[in-house]
Amino acid sequence: MINVTSLKLIGFLLLIVMFTLSAEEQLNNAPLLSDTKPAVQSSLLNNDEPLPVNARILSLLELSEKSPGQAEQLLPKVDDISHSFNAAEKYLMLIIRANIIRESHEQHKAINWLKKALSLEDKIATMQLIQPQFNQIHTKLANCYAQIGQYELAYQQKNNYLDKYRDYRKFLREQRLAKLNAKYDTDLKVKANELLKTEHELQHLQLKETEKEVAIQQRNIGILLITAIIFIALLIRQLKINTALKQLTERDNLTQLLNRQSCFEQGELLSEAALKYQHDLSVILLDIDFFERINQAYGCVIGDELINAISQLGKESIRPRDIFARIAGEEFAVILPQTNHEQAKAIAERFREKVQQYRYTYQEESLQITISIGVASLSQTEQNFDALVNAADEALMAAKNTGRNQVCSYIKQD
Ligand code: GH3
Ligand code: MG
Ligand code: MG
Repeated sequence: MINVTSLKLIGFLLLIVMFTLSAEEQLNNAPLLSDTKPAVQSSLLNNDEPLPVNARILSLLELSEKSPGQAEQLLPKVDDISHSFNAAEKYLMLIIRANIIRESHEQHKAINWLKKALSLEDKIATMQLIQPQFNQIHTKLANCYAQIGQYELAYQQKNNYLDKYRDYRKFLREQRLAKLNAKYDTDLKVKANELLKTEHELQHLQLKETEKEVAIQQRNIGILLITAIIFIALLIRQLKINTALKQLTERDNLTQLLNRQSCFEQGELLSEAALKYQHDLSVILLDIDFFERINQAYGCVIGDELINAISQLGKESIRPRDIFARIAGEEFAVILPQTNHEQAKAIAERFREKVQQYRYTYQEESLQITISIGVASLSQTEQNFDALVNAADEALMAAKNTGRNQVCSYIKQD
């Protein structure tokens, strides 16, 4: 015989089987959680912050599942602090009460506690309501309804549970994804940092390399500068030596006038040019009168000073283009380019007069010296420089022989 209670039990079991099959089907066929229930927010992570829950309430909730009797004994202690509970804590406390009351099979009372809890849902964040401690409220309600034979309501509550369970899974997935993203971001940042560090090191190395190159360049420039300075110094020294050597070979030590050899070299060139271009050229030869006596009377040093004085007087008498040389001890020559015989004689006379007027003071004694001069011109000889000098020398001899302190011209013997 099957009584009413047995029928109720069979009906409930059938409902459970239907519900489980339907649930599994829904879960397996569900494409994406976000598509299944438009009312649920697209991201559960961005929902309102969950409310904090006292650890004692969580322990009591667990106890009320396993041992409702023990939980009932501890309930007053937790109740003492119920005035400070937030909505989430009140929610869980109502589930605890429902668990305890169900122990005494008072399903209606349990349903009341659970409904009261559901009325608090709008004060609790969605992401908190989908957590296992909270979402189980629907399975409990479903069980209670099934116990009193209200299978439709039980089915509805099971569906509610499924909705929340799906959201909970979605929440977990998003959480995992967020963690992965955070890890990926961190890895990316670490890699970027390493790259930056490597770039920095590379830049540092490049900088060092550049500094090294600059130092080498500066050192090379320094070496180049020092070499150039040494080279220029050596060049200047060499030029000075060359000038000094030229001076030594070309000039007379005492008067700094051209020496005999240079005089003849220059004279040769000028004679050749004058002959070629039919220019005038004259030569003056002069010799200090009775110089032997001066040397004997006053000494060679005074003699040298007088030779120097003659060279100075000569420089004052001639023109810049004329060539003045000391060709022997107290004998001088003047080459006069583009100068005819008369002009040369005039210059010679001016020179002679200057010397005659000159006085050298020695120990309060005033010394007078004279010179004899011979003049010859290229127009008379029409030969080389040697011939011209010989002609001037002949005229000088004449000046010496006919009284000294005078200018004599070369007279060509036909
Ligand atoms: P003059 O020419 O009038 O015929 O008589 P002089 O006494 O001048 O005779 P000469 O021209 O032959 O004499 C040259 C003298 O000049 C000989 C020498 O003592 C002197 N003498 C030659 N060279 C130098 C010199 O460099 N320094 C000095 N102090 N005397 C010199
Ligand atoms: Mg002489
Ligand atoms: Mg003389």
